[in-house]
Amino acid sequence: MSENNSPDSPEEINALAAEYGLQLSDQDIAFLGRFLDVLFEANTRMNLTRIVDRKQAWTRHMLDSLSVLPFLEACQAQNMLDLGAGGGFPGMPVAIVRPDLPVTLLEATGKKARFLVDAATDLSLENVTVLSERAETLGSPEGGGRFAWDVVTARAVGPMRVLLELALPLVVEGGYLIAIKGERAGEEIEEAAKALRTLNATVEKTHRTPSGTIVVVRRDGPILKMYPRRPGEPSHSPIGAPARERR
Ligand code: SAH
Repeated sequence: MSENNSPDSPEEINALAAEYGLQLSDQDIAFLGRFLDVLFEANTRMNLTRIVDRKQAWTRHMLDSLSVLPFLEACQAQNMLDLGAGGGFPGMPVAIVRPDLPVTLLEATGKKARFLVDAATDLSLENVTVLSERAETLGSPEGGGRFAWDVVTARAVGPMRVLLELALPLVVEGGYLIAIKGERAGEEIEEAAKALRTLNATVEKTHRTPSGTIVVVRRDGPILKMYPRRPGEPSHSPIGAPARERR
């Protein structure tokens, strides 16, 4: 375990970051490293990540998360919500290196949300707000978060056609979903054709990084009141999926 507490070498981290087109200040690296310490410590008590190797955590968690930064800037986002933040990715690293940006971390599981609150307090992150509820509730017409964010990010929260229904009702018209996907991104986008039409959105670009695929989706127009459907429904019967057998 002592390895996990070793300080991170800025040269080594920036060599990895360069592969993502990123460059981090020594101060950012120290701050991000403190979040890793907090995460690894909490991970001994609860299941937040399977990655326990520090170098791997830098690439697969930190840099993979920070790969959204250039796209966030291109969207000129004034605020952002990370949907299904889990152990804090990508929202927490983004909040650390962008202290000027208000970041809301949305996480349905209470225990994980409590970890996120504690971590934000530990690191004195004043730009972070944690919400413990489901995206379907927050984005409903009575939910208080409908059409409220310039950008919603999400990593590892369901296939694209499900994620679109959860995320787009939280995005302002003309705003963006920035999803971190894996190698199947292209297939997921094809399967999401009907969901994109139904929710009035278009895939603006996809971009490969060393650890994933960034998919930028623009919300072009109105969203019917019936979306998102009630909690669980988007993943049980995704828009555009073959009809399920009647129960
Ligand atoms: N984004 C993190 C965690 C991915 S796991 C990462 O990439 O490491 C998916 C997380 O999304 C889980 O913590 C789960 O509790 C949360 N989640 C799933 N569906 C959700 C919903 N409808 N609303 C809010 N959170 C949700």
